[in-house]
Amino acid sequence: MKKQTGLFLATLLLLSACGSVPLTGRRQMMLVSDQDVLTSSLTQYNNFLKDATLSADKAQTAKVTRVGKNIAAATEAYLKANGMETDIKNFVWEFNYVKSAEVNAFCMPGGKIVVYEGIMPFASTDEELAAVLGHEVAHAVAKHANERMSQQMLTQYGGIILEQAVSGASSTVQTLAGTVYGLGAEFGIMLPYSRKHEYEADHMGLIFMAMAGYNPQAAISFWTKMAQGKTSSVPEFMSTHPSDVNRIAELQKYMPDAMKYYKR
Ligand SMILES: [Zn+2]
Repeated sequence: MKKQTGLFLATLLLLSACGSVPLTGRRQMMLVSDQDVLTSSLTQYNNFLKDATLSADKAQTAKVTRVGKNIAAATEAYLKANGMETDIKNFVWEFNYVKSAEVNAFCMPGGKIVVYEGIMPFASTDEELAAVLGHEVAHAVAKHANERMSQQMLTQYGGIILEQAVSGASSTVQTLAGTVYGLGAEFGIMLPYSRKHEYEADHMGLIFMAMAGYNPQAAISFWTKMAQGKTSSVPEFMSTHPSDVNRIAELQKYMPDAMKYYKR
């Protein structure tokens, strides 16, 4: 009987909890409320910042903030112009530049983006950095964390957790959050986004950077540099993300679409 209730709720939720991703239009399952996702991820984000050391490099910090804000503003303007502003109504963009040699950057729900010093040699121009930040902004806007959380809820916990979710037990969400977000997941360590999400973030990221006035072609030069500079110090990156060759091929495929949004 329990199982039936669970199945019933699952069906109900699936019917009611579908969203679609801006730009790509892909349908996605969202079983967790924005508020629950944001609350639980904010705790993790604040904990991360408490332990992290911000970069002492003022110029690079300013660059990360400047490029990030430009992309966020262009993205917001686009969503607003297309009646999707409620999608990001709870977002508060933040761009942090942290001291770490790791070749890394990540994004948490609600627009909390962190860039590590170690990625900057590969993103020396504003345009190349825009490729990184466009990709991160895209993960946030596409709500990939919520989707991944929803998928995990459904496959691992099935009806039981759905019942709790329905009854508003946000402690359940809190518990899941720890395993789902995986700080540092981006560019490789714990739970990476799926390839589908990576490619979608690449696609949307190209468009967002173009909207903000950055030439999307710079994403190719960024990924080419990454491919060339890759050493044994970043093996996770290799294993958990699409290969650079495939990634660059996909980016080339999206390029004509992105260039339509790019005005000099
Ligand atoms: Zn990504």
